[in-house]
Amino acid sequence: MHHFAYRGNELYAEDAAIKDIAAHIGTPVYIYSAATLRRHFRVFDEALSGADHLICYAMKALSNLSILKLFGAMGSGFDIVSAGELMRCLRAGAEAKKIVFSGVGKSEEEIAAALDAGILMFNVESRPELYRIAEVARRKKVKAPVSLRVNPDLDPGTHPHISTGHRTSKFGIPLAQVFEYYAQARSLPELELVGLSTHIGSQITETGPFIEAGEKVASIVRQLKSDGIALRYLDIGGGLGIPYLEEPPPPSEYAAAILKPLKGLGVKIIAEPGRVLVGNAGILVTRVLYVKETDVKRFIVVDGAMNDLIRPVLYEAYHAIWPVRKESGRKPVIADVVGPVCESGDFFAQDREMPDPQAGELLAVMSAGAYGFVMASNYNSRARAPEVLVEGSRVHVIRERDRFEDLINREKLVELGS
Ligand SMILES: *Cc1c(COP(=O)(O)O)cnc(C)c1O
Repeated sequence: MHHFAYRGNELYAEDAAIKDIAAHIGTPVYIYSAATLRRHFRVFDEALSGADHLICYAMKALSNLSILKLFGAMGSGFDIVSAGELMRCLRAGAEAKKIVFSGVGKSEEEIAAALDAGILMFNVESRPELYRIAEVARRKKVKAPVSLRVNPDLDPGTHPHISTGHRTSKFGIPLAQVFEYYAQARSLPELELVGLSTHIGSQITETGPFIEAGEKVASIVRQLKSDGIALRYLDIGGGLGIPYLEEPPPPSEYAAAILKPLKGLGVKIIAEPGRVLVGNAGILVTRVLYVKETDVKRFIVVDGAMNDLIRPVLYEAYHAIWPVRKESGRKPVIADVVGPVCESGDFFAQDREMPDPQAGELLAVMSAGAYGFVMASNYNSRARAPEVLVEGSRVHVIRERDRFEDLINREKLVELGS
């Protein structure tokens, strides 16, 4: 469910016509719907309402300050993976006590910054990291709240690049070593053992892997309790998919599935949804530059490119593509939608049936809110697209398009010998 819909033949974001936004701000442009973002947060929050819980939005999915502020105002915490994300969410008004810090490679500086801020907990991914956190805490004469991230060794059935819960992945502590890790962590006086966490992957479209992970972590929490380690938090990660092509379970079904094995553990549940909150709350609007026909293919050349949205080539991801204006009586054609970047991987769709787009028309690449703008780059010296947040009929530019100066302002033209 989202608030991008046709009124007559024109596509709207809430009460704002996409064509007007494109006319004022140009293309390519990311457009987000505030009502959709709020609705997704509310639905997810209500789905977990049967348990004492905290949502820590995985902000790497979409991290514009205004989006973070919107979620923070709804009570969300944040799952961060870098000092940059820490500063970003604090700047947007996040409460430090609602921040969890994930990731396999936290640097000493990042650990120090998070301790200074007073975050809720570190999700620890390895033994050397555990010792590093203890060392930094000792120096700062504080206690570091830690949770150990276990790798439940399962296959979530998603694309290998976004699968994190198999034992061959770099993430988490091996199941077989979990108790040894907790014993070790307990012996370090600088650490406060507050939780257990897991995260099995992204764009997961069935409940089975979540149930399996839930059962595995629940039995660990029980065993730890009987060993005298009473945890306060169980962090179940993120990973619930959105309908790009497959239809994932709704948050209510997901929550029912994952909460069942966690009943009676006496811990607060932390969830780290990313994609499901923002994925279909955003679109990328692009204009057709040329229609190029070869003897074997029809290419719709648009002004957006892989530097704006890399998911199609990086994850073989499917994004629906809608015309911003529906024209009646157009015959469908099979075409590739490609951008101007000099790479064969620069496409939004391949062999896609669509209603014969013409040069000058606008296309909306749907469900581009998650892992879209945040992965944008300046490759080919292209300006990153602006981001727009629509709220009813109000259109807020929440990030301007890069200017040429933005592309070169850290560079130096040095004097070279000849
Ligand atoms: C990326 C990530 C998430 C969010 O994943 P989604 O699939 O976007 O929900 C949550 N937790 C951790 C640790 C992550 O790395």
